[in-house]
Amino acid sequence: MNKIKIMEASVKKWDRIIAGKGSDGGVFDCPPCRIFYVLICIGCPISEYTGKKFCKGSPYPDWYWHQIEEHGEFRKKVRCDECLRLATAMRDYMQEIVDHLKAEAEKKKKLKRNGP
Ligand SMILES: [Zn+2]
Repeated sequence: MNKIKIMEASVKKWDRIIAGKGSDGGVFDCPPCRIFYVLICIGCPISEYTGKKFCKGSPYPDWYWHQIEEHGEFRKKVRCDECLRLATAMRDYMQEIVDHLKAEAEKKKKLKRNGP
């Protein structure tokens, strides 16, 4: 599956959470996790971008710990202003990775065109 498509699905997931229409089930409903988590994050576009595993280096841990410490819920969704801020940071980060992957794909295309 195309990594750009996977990350776009992730942006959509966080859009739904921000809109109050979705929740975050972590590895169970994260589009890249569902494909890459079985391989212990190897090859995951988020992991490749942060250089770390398990979403460290992304806004995810802040969201995760806020949900556990403030709301004590397994099904993570927007319940207060801080939730909204953290979910938005996560959505923006997913979008940043989409843009990065698109730029990389564009670079590769150009290399091919200018190559021998
Ligand atoms: Zn909250």
